[in-house]
Amino acid sequence: MTHAEPAPSSPASPRPEILAVRPETLAVHPPHVEITGSRPLGVPLHQGHVFAFDSADALAEGFTSPDAFLYSRLGNPTVRTLEDAVARLEGGTAARSFASGMGAINAVLLGLLSSGDHVIAQTCLYGGTYAVLTDLAARWGVHVTYVSGTDPEEVRAALRPETRLLYLETIANPTTRVADVPALAAVAAEAGVPVVVDNTFASPLLCRPLDHGADIVVHSATKYLAGHADVLGGIAVFKDAELYDGVRHHAVEQGASTDPFAAWLTLRGIQTLSLRMERQCASAAELAARLETHPAVEAVRHPALASHPDRAIAARLLPAGGGGVVSIDLAGGREAGRAFVEAVRLASLSVSLGDVKTLVMHPASTSHHQLDAAALAAAGIGAGTVRLSVGIEHVEDLWADLEQALTKAG
Ligand SMILES: *Cc1c(COP(=O)(O)O)cnc(C)c1O
Repeated sequence: MTHAEPAPSSPASPRPEILAVRPETLAVHPPHVEITGSRPLGVPLHQGHVFAFDSADALAEGFTSPDAFLYSRLGNPTVRTLEDAVARLEGGTAARSFASGMGAINAVLLGLLSSGDHVIAQTCLYGGTYAVLTDLAARWGVHVTYVSGTDPEEVRAALRPETRLLYLETIANPTTRVADVPALAAVAAEAGVPVVVDNTFASPLLCRPLDHGADIVVHSATKYLAGHADVLGGIAVFKDAELYDGVRHHAVEQGASTDPFAAWLTLRGIQTLSLRMERQCASAAELAARLETHPAVEAVRHPALASHPDRAIAARLLPAGGGGVVSIDLAGGREAGRAFVEAVRLASLSVSLGDVKTLVMHPASTSHHQLDAAALAAAGIGAGTVRLSVGIEHVEDLWADLEQALTKAG
């Protein structure tokens, strides 16, 4: 078929060809190619931000139907593909994608909380989340009680009539503490309090918090889901439609929507998530075990280690692996930590995690620099703590790099 022939009528293109022949007009209206007889194997990228309708009624209906595509801040087919893919991976009924992990977290918190409400949250939260809760407390009168994340009785004692959320992280940063999601969620459920779990560090390949009593899962898709250090993204997955609707309305107003190309890159990353996660977990566990016996290393934290304080919870919650993040305390303290992150040659000195490349950072001088020694200790971070996000390189090359850096830092 040539483009001169009229397009066959189909529900997607019932309009006749445009009534124009002048190049100025044709340039603005490229032909529409229908695919028949085959289908794209990759996910099509619908980069357009706006969609055209054939009837005024259809557009009017689009305003009330959450499934219609009319304007990409409200919904986009490529973004919807990502939302449906992650909803399925997490075992949820619906998902909403965002421009970043913080976009997702903000939409969930602001979508579900009002002034005077009370939140129970785990200490050792991701810094950005802690900052939002602190801001909500100072400016909007949302009260926050912090709990360890491992003791259900602490949650029970913190409950108030106005408690609206329990907020947890599957694996905390950078301590790798593992929240007892099933036990804590059970206490929240008795009180009718929804549970939000940031599952960024575990990914749905290691843990599906909705299976363990959570109501909403949030992700920084920037990290393991996308995995290649080339895109920012966030996603929230919902167990039931009611919470989803509340957050969706608010999200559309907030406007932290996902650019379709970002969704497309994230979807491409997700296709290899299981292979990356398998390698990253295995390498992280192997490196953690070797680091535990190294004289320059005082302590190692990784959920797969027998010495991990939450080993019993991790065995139940993360049976497939403890994730790719390992944190180590260097015997030489702050100076050794700083020297180590500068001495690595294969790993990169970088914030973020979950990338195919191995990344190292020193929390005391970067992500947690506002904390004094007492606050650092309370957060489980030492002056000589270094966080490793183990990538997919060969584990022996990684060990060689860590060993030479430990020698220089020691
Ligand atoms: C990075 C991160 C976030 C924030 O995500 P962005 O994509 O950077 O906005 C939230 N939670 C955790 C656990 C993270 O690691």
